[in-house]
Order: sequence, then C-alpha cells, then structure tokens
Amino acid sequence: MSKDFIPAARPIIGDEERAAVDAVLVSGMLAQGSEVAAFEQEFSQVLLDGRHAVAVNSGTSGLHLGLLAAGIGPGDEVIVPSFTFAATANSVALTGATPVFADIEPEHYCLDPEAVAAAVTPRTKAIMPVHLYGHPANMDALGALAAEKSLLLFEDAAQAHGASLGGRRVGTFGEFAMFSLYPTKNMTSGEGGMVSTGSDEVARRLKLLRNQGMERQYENELVGFNARMTNLHAAIGRVQLGKVGGWTEQRRANAAFLDANLAGVGTPQVADGAVHVYHQYTVRIGAGERDRFAAALKDEYNIGSGVYYPIPNHRLPSFNIAADLPVTEAAAAEVLSLPVHPSLDAEDLDRIATAVNALAKAGA
Ligand SMILES: *Cc1c(COP(=O)(O)O)cnc(C)c1O
Repeated sequence: MSKDFIPAARPIIGDEERAAVDAVLVSGMLAQGSEVAAFEQEFSQVLLDGRHAVAVNSGTSGLHLGLLAAGIGPGDEVIVPSFTFAATANSVALTGATPVFADIEPEHYCLDPEAVAAAVTPRTKAIMPVHLYGHPANMDALGALAAEKSLLLFEDAAQAHGASLGGRRVGTFGEFAMFSLYPTKNMTSGEGGMVSTGSDEVARRLKLLRNQGMERQYENELVGFNARMTNLHAAIGRVQLGKVGGWTEQRRANAAFLDANLAGVGTPQVADGAVHVYHQYTVRIGAGERDRFAAALKDEYNIGSGVYYPIPNHRLPSFNIAADLPVTEAAAAEVLSLPVHPSLDAEDLDRIATAVNALAKAGA
C-alpha cells in the first residue's frame, strides 16, 4: 500500500489564519471583543441575509443558549431526530426539557414531518430538525406543522453553512438556528458556534446568557454562563468565512464527480429546490456489509471514511429511551461517509471511485 492516506476530513488552516491569530495576540485583546463583533457582522451578511448572529464558544453552547433564549425549560418537550450527533438532544435535556425522538426520511436522513406530527403531545413546545450532512431538512412541511400546532421551529444547522431550500438559506427559517465551527465542519474557528435569530428579543437574551447575564458590566440581569467566543477564535473564523463559499463549490463538485462515477452503492439524494453543501458525502451499503466495506477501504486502499452515526441517540447509554424508529435504525446500520472535503484532488477522487466500485462489485 504505497499511496498516501486520504482522510475522511481535513481542516484547512493557511497563512492568513495564522497571521490573523498573531495580530490578535499582538493586540493583547484576547477575550470577546472587536474581532467577535466583526465576525458576527460578517457571518450575518455572508450566510444569513442580515439576520442577527451571536457568537458563542461551541455549537453545543449555541443550541443550549438558543433553547433557553427561546423559553424552553422543564416540562416542555422538543421533537428532535435520533439520527444525529448527541449534542442535538443533549442541549434539550440540559435545559430540563425532554427530547422526544422522531424518525427520519430515508432519502435525506432529516426529520420526517409525518413522524413529527405523530409525536406531538400537549407538552410539545418546539421542533428542532437537523440539516444532516449539509442537506436541508424539509422546512416547508415542518414549518406548516409548527404553524398549525402553534409550536416553535428551531434549526440545528451545525453541518449546513450555506445550504438552502427554495432559495432560502438554512438558518433563516427557525426562531433560532445554530452553526458549529468545530474543526471538521465546513468552516471552523477552532471551536465555536454561531447562533442566528430573526428576533431582537432572542438575540438580546442570547447575548445575556453567554456573558453571565450582563449587558452592562456588573449589572447582571439574569443567571447566565460564560459561553463567550474569544477574539483569537473569531479571527480564524473571519478568514474562513471568506473561503467557505469556494470550499462549498469544491465540495459540490467533488460530490458531483462521485455521483457520476460510483456504482453499486446508494448515492446521496437531493430534494427538489435544495442546495446540499456536502458536509458529508454519505452512501448506503447493503445491510451487514458496511463495516467490512469501511475496513477494506482503509486496509486495501488507504482511504478513510466515517459512520455518522452508528448508535441512534435514543439507544445511547446517556438516553436509553424506548422508541420505534425503523428508518433511523436502518440508516445507522447502512450509512458510510466518504471523503468529499475540498482538499481532494482529481487523483484522490479517482482512487475513491475505483476503490468503492471494486469493493461494491466484490461484495455483490
Ligand atoms: C458538530 C455538531 C453539533 C455540536 O457542535 P460543537 O461545535 O461540536 O459543539 C451539534 N449538532 C450537530 C448535528 C453537529 O454535527
């Protein structure tokens, strides 16, 4: 095995990010300050059509504070997918509310509006879909359901910077939405999260909650956290924000190549009117074959891949909730995410297609 390893993900940090961090270090203004304010302003313009953007120290903090700012708390139920990263349901549980798990659509792996409708109870306060892998959830149907049942609609957009549905950007549908800035996401600040909202009041509460309940120094209005982003992280994020559009085009081009050249595995489907930003390029491998397939991809072809996510949230030891989610269970057993990141070159993409097709043929 002589060829270089192709990793499943690769954060891209260049000279500009390093220079931006150095400038903050030289300034001595390390904590939340003018870099964070500029990052919020620019993120709002580039990705949110001018909506409020409030920066925090992680995506998980963003979900947690967003839920609190929207008034979610003990006694409430929030409907979430089980097929997602644990932070989605964790953030609901951390408010004292109960996450209620609903099944997903088999084509796009996002919440199924019919399953959500069936999960509504008198205690349901909100629906929080995840735009999983960078594909927008079915916001038209979920929005109609939320309006009909007087529920709030939130968005876990951790993986979906720049995705859209019907020409409308994700992050502009919900009462609030969260974008993660973790290193493997489509853009990074090192660690960090950005919360968007169209509500002046939610934006104000988010800013209070992230900073000990203070708008004016030492006049704390409520009990809050220290969930502030630092100027160092914001400086990285600002540089990456200028690059994420180009990276997204590269991800989409890489995905188009794989769509056209893979055979024998189920390739990703895109809903009508959706712009998928391919945080992951996720294929389906026949039942029982997936783990062997991933191991062979690594051992025989030196190509990394990932399973997002092998254990649905409702079955994690941290939740362990009985739920009948057949589409979620099938996805957890069959999905495999192949490299699609913008650092891949034509030879890498060719190697991936050749390897996947050979393994699919051998398994058939
Ligand atoms: C990454 C991620 C989060 C959490 O973001 P962090 O920045 O890692 O805290 C939440 N939800 C989903 C779907 C994610 O992928």
